[in-house]
Amino acid sequence: MTSPDTLKVGTPFDPADARRTAEAPRLEASLDDKKPLMSAQQALAEANRCLYCADAPCIKACPTAIDIPTFIRKISTGNLAGSARAILDANILGLSCARVCPTEVLCEGDCVYNEMDSPPIKIGKLQRVATEYAYDRGLQFFERGAARPGRVAIVGGGPAGLACAHELARLGFESVIFEGRELPGGLNSTGVAPYKLQLPDAIREVSYVLEIGGIELRTGVKVGQDLTFAQLEADFDAIFVGVGLGPDGVLDIEGEDLEGVVGATVWIERMKLEPGFGLGGVKKAAIIGGGNTAIDVVRELRGLGVDDVVMIYRKDGAAMSGYEHEWSAARIEGARAQFWTQPVGFTGEGGKVTGVRCLSLKPMGPDESGRAWVEPIPGSESVIGADLVVLAVGQSKLESMMSAVEGLAFDKGRLVVDAETGQCSNPRYFAGGDCANGGKEVVNAAAEGKRAARGLARFLDARAQQEADHG
Ligand SMILES: Cc1cc2nc3c(=O)[nH]c(=O)nc-3n(C[C@H](O)[C@H](O)[C@H](O)COP(=O)(O)OP(=O)(O)OC[C@H]3O[C@@H](n4cnc5c(N)ncnc54)[C@H](O)[C@@H]3O)c2cc1C
Repeated sequence: MTSPDTLKVGTPFDPADARRTAEAPRLEASLDDKKPLMSAQQALAEANRCLYCADAPCIKACPTAIDIPTFIRKISTGNLAGSARAILDANILGLSCARVCPTEVLCEGDCVYNEMDSPPIKIGKLQRVATEYAYDRGLQFFERGAARPGRVAIVGGGPAGLACAHELARLGFESVIFEGRELPGGLNSTGVAPYKLQLPDAIREVSYVLEIGGIELRTGVKVGQDLTFAQLEADFDAIFVGVGLGPDGVLDIEGEDLEGVVGATVWIERMKLEPGFGLGGVKKAAIIGGGNTAIDVVRELRGLGVDDVVMIYRKDGAAMSGYEHEWSAARIEGARAQFWTQPVGFTGEGGKVTGVRCLSLKPMGPDESGRAWVEPIPGSESVIGADLVVLAVGQSKLESMMSAVEGLAFDKGRLVVDAETGQCSNPRYFAGGDCANGGKEVVNAAAEGKRAARGLARFLDARAQQEADHG
């Protein structure tokens, strides 16, 4: 069914090659793991604290609905392989999720121990013990389902695309993943803070996902550029879109083109992936934004030894969208914030940034409708010195990339999908992950990729039935 031309584009993924690339010296490798692996004894003691609640709130808080009490009980009886199977059965990205999930606001946040003024069960750490046990021993629990007619093109080899491909393989469908970058894994490879997950483990997970068979992964293929959606429509029965979000947002203020002013995901990707990339003597860094990406960069720069790291945010700590636990950790690590401050330009010398020109803001309102706002304080301009400025003001959406596809609906740049099936308004398209949810977590992308695979299975079965009925 697939034309040879479609499969000539890009490079077939070679796990050994990717492993070698991931092992080259990179700046991220100098950052320590902040949640190190528990010992076997610690895991046993922690597992034995679990109350194995009926109607467990932790399961409900997990977007992939991992049966957490069951996997913890298996750890407590020494059945680590069974534990890993239970985790990966629900969430094939269980290895990375164990490390990157904001468990504080998901499963652990809903642990009943919180109601008893006791620390919640360390679910993420236990998940890490079980999944790493299985990976270290090469335990593969899944096999391809009996072949069913229908082949799917998957655009994007991040968490959503990988989860979709794996579930399709379990259900008996073939898929081809087209990944724009040279390395797959999406933000697990390029964006997640190195003190949680580093490139070698992200690649290890991709390789594990592909071991099931029936999934071809081609890297270095930007759909919309190297291949058109029309080509995919001609060569595949259906298409899953898991392209994530677009480039870093900009402020559009004077001096933004100075050397040393850089978008957050661009800077993080270079720090994580680029052999030889260094800090170049940065002494003072300013990070603009108040979300999780801003906090990540703050913590990364502190961890890499930059003395003066300041986060510039237009409101205060209570209004920040970044997680409170992450910001508390950043403060303990020596970061500081300049709240109620708005950048209005950058100063420079010899083409390089030297500072951020700022105005102080004051909170106003609420007005009769309850709306609060901020206003600049006249004459309050000051300069915050910085030889690196990282803009963490959100990422754009990739809507325009898909403008050539007929019948797709968007809402604020997100692909509109059916909540049960992940199907788009053009019925041959399905989507999940950041491009459809607007930007959440890895575990949401994993859940939505799997959900879409099940929706795709129904769609492909109905299509095959129709073809059979019409001879
Ligand atoms: C800096 C940062 C830190 C984060 N930290 C965490 C964290 O600690 N924990 C957590 O749970 N979540 C975190 N997230 C969020 C999480 O990474 C995302 O929610 C998740 O990766 C979304 O998965 P996805 O597959 O939808 O998109 P992505 O991970 O973005 O993957 C999309 C893939 O599609 C590819 N692609 C894009 N366009 C094309 C095209 N035209 N053709 C082919 N391929 C294409 C991209 O190269 C990419 O590999 C973080 C996000 C950022 C930005």
